[in-house]
Parts: sequence; structure tokens; C-alpha cells
Amino acid sequence: MIPLIQVESVSKHYKAASDAGGTTVLQDVSFHLEEGQSLCLVGESGAGKSTLARLLLGLEVPDSGRILFQGKVMGGKNHRRELKRFIQIIWQDPVVYLNPYYTVSELITEPMAIFGMGNGSHQRDKMMQLLGAVGLSVNLSARRPCELSGGQCQRVAIARALAVNPRVLICDEALAGLDIPQQARILRLLIHLQQSMNLTCLFITHDLSAVSRICPKMAILTAGKIIEIGDTRQLLHHPVHPYSRQLMQRGDAPSDDGRLS
Ligand code: ADP
Repeated sequence: MIPLIQVESVSKHYKAASDAGGTTVLQDVSFHLEEGQSLCLVGESGAGKSTLARLLLGLEVPDSGRILFQGKVMGGKNHRRELKRFIQIIWQDPVVYLNPYYTVSELITEPMAIFGMGNGSHQRDKMMQLLGAVGLSVNLSARRPCELSGGQCQRVAIARALAVNPRVLICDEALAGLDIPQQARILRLLIHLQQSMNLTCLFITHDLSAVSRICPKMAILTAGKIIEIGDTRQLLHHPVHPYSRQLMQRGDAPSDDGRLS
């Protein structure tokens, strides 16, 4: 069976304003994701993680290599409208990226309206159902992001992403702005949603402590290259590459049960 997503030898270079040099942000990155599978992409700040997310969303195109969705090349003009619906993302700070003028209800129904999914009453029903799915009371539907906690905002962002029935969910440092108890709750929610909806997920993080709970498979990205990819527990406890070993020693690699501290 063809994997849902195939990233094949992708490289990305940004030119410098002065015309000299520039930065190679991704070099020959390859991996694939089967439907319903999750991958945790770990790397320090500046490793190229968000650039990869932008490429997967079709916001930018690779300089070389290609990304395929269900066996078809995506990116640029080929990135069809359907793909924009199928691949959704949750960013780090929902309080910043959710439109502050919109109510919770508007934030969740807007993507359905954009993609022409059902009439107003269908969208409203689905919004209420999604609020339940992400653990929010319908009483919050008239509030705006500034009237919610960080964790509640992240739940709204998740409901908004799920509103258009995506196949792939990218979580780019989605827990980073939250305190530890909130991180644990949102993490549990994401794991539950991923499993119950058979979502294909890419979790992007610089934080090793949650990795083993999220995905059975992980990849380590440094300076734009994937240096190791494989079974999460194996990689966390027996890293092969010197950089991975350094990362495990420096980071708070989780205990065997992978519980958040
Ligand atoms: P990460 O998400 O791992 O922190 P990023 O993908 O955000 O890393 O960035 C990787 C590198 O690419 C950084 O050095 C960043 O400054 C650079 N970069 C990202 N976007 C651009 C851009 N549009 N133009 C030039 N350099 C960029």
C-alpha cells in the first residue's frame, strides 16, 4: 500500500538578502507516514522542523526532492484545495494565532464554511459535537480567545483543525506554551483523538519528555538532516548517532513508562 505521505530527499535553501550564500535549512530529508501512523520529529531550535511543516502544508515548495500525498506530488500549484483541508496544523501559541475578534463558535465553524461543508445548522451541530470531543463546554461557544485559558484555547484550535475532517494533523510545538498539567491533559486528548479518528500525526517538538507517550516512531533532525529515525524507545534509550546521544543526555529523556514529570 502507498504511504499517505512520502517525503523524498527534500532540501530547502533560503537565499540571503545580499545575494551571497544563504542558509540550507533542510538537506535530503526522507521519511514516510502510513495512514493512521504517527511520527515524532525531535530537534533543537533552528533544526528546520517548522520549515518541514510549512513544506507539508504546501506553504513553501522544496528546492529539490518531493513530497507526495497518496502517491501524488504536492506543493505549489499542485497543492490542491482538497490537500489544504486534509492536512491541518496546530501551532504553539493559540492565543496569538486564533483571531481575537472571533467567538469560539465562529472559530470552529469558519473552516467548514470556507470549504463549503454543510449548511449553517450542520456546521453548528458539528461545532457542538467538536466542543464535546475536545472536552470543552458548549457554554464557552460565545467567548473569545482572550476570555479562555491557554489550554482552552489550544482545545479550540484542535476543534478548529478537526472541523474539516483532516487526514493529517501536524502539531508544531503544540504543548510548548502550556504549563505541565495542561501539557499532560492536551497530550492525552491528542493521543485519544489520533487513535479514535485514525489520524496520521506529525508531532514536532524540541522536548523529549513527552515523546515516548506520543508516538512509537521518532526521528531526530539536526541542522536540517534526519540523523536517526526508528522505534521511539529504542532511540530514546539506545541512540546510535553521537548527536542523538548528546541530545538524550542533555534533554530529560523520559523514564521507561514515558510519563510526564
Ligand atoms: P525550528 O522549527 O527547528 O526551530 P525553523 O524551520 O523555524 O527551525 O528554522 C530553521 C532555520 O531556517 C533557522 O535558522 C531560521 O532562521 C531559518 N529560516 C526559516 N525560515 C526562513 C526564511 N523564510 N528565510 C530565511 N531563513 C529562514
